[in-house]
Amino acid sequence: MATGDLLREAVAKGTELGREAKRYMDAGDLVPDAVVIGMIRERLSPGAGNFLLDGFPRTLPQAQALDEMLRELDAPLDAVLSLDVSRQELVRRLAGRWICRNCGRSWHEVFAPHQRDATCAATGECDLYQRADDRAEAVENRLSVYEASTAPLIDYYTARGLLRAINGEQSQDEVYVQITSAVAGN
Ligand code: AMP
Repeated sequence: MATGDLLREAVAKGTELGREAKRYMDAGDLVPDAVVIGMIRERLSPGAGNFLLDGFPRTLPQAQALDEMLRELDAPLDAVLSLDVSRQELVRRLAGRWICRNCGRSWHEVFAPHQRDATCAATGECDLYQRADDRAEAVENRLSVYEASTAPLIDYYTARGLLRAINGEQSQDEVYVQITSAVAGN
């Protein structure tokens, strides 16, 4: 479950939550903790089995709320993955990213150019757009917000022996293998 996807879905549907979240997202700011925590709380239920949260928690209060929710569910937190990528490389990746409105697939101007004859999994033809928060000013803001609000979680989870740092600048296949093995507990 990816909080960014859930929020973009709410924006696309024009729900009240979506309308509130949109202005933060477009600027590259974090959506308020209470909104995101409420969204996760709604979806975590007893007996949900194993799950992976993508993009959550992103602040200390979110991490503390997650601890509390997992305690209530009597579900242990097995591992926290941190994908390490330099600031320069992140800007390069985000600036060229285009996403299909219909199927959600990501393309990239340099790393994965859109193929004219590629079929869209949803409608047959991809309708590409650039996320408002992938524009240069928003990207810079997202990286500053990460440093101020999310980076402290590295110490939080390292102290509990849960952090698994993965070099995100390797090939996609290598990153995939390392994520799979970190999740499997190797
Ligand atoms: P992402 O798709 O993970 O890059 O998230 C896109 C945007 O959604 C972020 O820049 C935030 O505005 C918002 N967002 C996603 N996850 C969170 C979160 N855990 N806390 C606050 N805002 C979030």
